[in-house]
Amino acid sequence: MPTQDTPLAEGREFDLIRQMRECWGNLAIAIGDDAAVLQPPRGERVVISTDAAVDGVHFRRDWLSLAEIGYRAVTAALSDLAAMAATPRGVLISLTLPANDETHVLDVATGIGDAVRAASTVILGGNLSRADTLSLTTTVVGSAFAPLTRAGARPGDLLYVTGQLGGARKAWQELERGTKPDGALLERFARPRARIAESRWLAARGAVAAIDVSDGLGGDAAHLAAASDSTIEIDVHRVPVFPGATLDDALAGGEDYELLIVSRAALPADDFARQFGIPLTPIGRLVERGGDVRFLRDGKRVAAPAGHDHFSR
Ligand SMILES: [Mg+2]
Repeated sequence: MPTQDTPLAEGREFDLIRQMRECWGNLAIAIGDDAAVLQPPRGERVVISTDAAVDGVHFRRDWLSLAEIGYRAVTAALSDLAAMAATPRGVLISLTLPANDETHVLDVATGIGDAVRAASTVILGGNLSRADTLSLTTTVVGSAFAPLTRAGARPGDLLYVTGQLGGARKAWQELERGTKPDGALLERFARPRARIAESRWLAARGAVAAIDVSDGLGGDAAHLAAASDSTIEIDVHRVPVFPGATLDDALAGGEDYELLIVSRAALPADDFARQFGIPLTPIGRLVERGGDVRFLRDGKRVAAPAGHDHFSR
């Protein structure tokens, strides 16, 4: 891998890239060649994912600053590496920018840099293009010796969730109504965390399958159930609710970027809470072959929550 920046030619596009590269400093030490070169640690497998964030579809500019938009887009992509218990090795960002946003490019770059720094990774490269709509497509590259998948669960396993759910949905609803969410709720929506260290810690202690909660608890549990050919039962009253949100928000809301974690035996939840400052809560179990998700209240089945409201629906 090159250890220095490759010099860039002159021109408006390269001026903007140069500005971003200066903003990123040591986070982007090898940008400027035709492609990035990576050497994964010996024996590890490469884990890759990509995720688009488009103005008016995935975010609204009147709700978030450009720095928050950049941060959130990159964090959402990194969350998929967390779901695989992979260590991030770098990100590539494809940015489309309307002409009148060129002067704000450093705001977006600042948010991107914050997300990359929070994940202790680097920017490997990207692409910048003029377009009518602001969008960021983030490709994340990671590696893991034994990546966690959605298919690793089986009947008899236990289901856990990290952190608390529903905060992003509650903030979203308040923004949609035109009220400003309180500080913690807005922070939850604007500055989620990718649970990277958390998932690697859990994978080392017996986690066998995982998925990040991006579409909503019911929807993401259904992906896990289908991939593992196992029916999942979730105890509604055990689902941890983000302060200020409701149980409905926690059951139906997406984009919290917490993790659903499956294990064969009980996980050390107290140690986890001490280590990471967030809870790890057992919320259900995998009961039999199949691919259903059942929500239970006091042992009785209740209706599935309505699901995640998203601009794209
Ligand atoms: Mg995901």
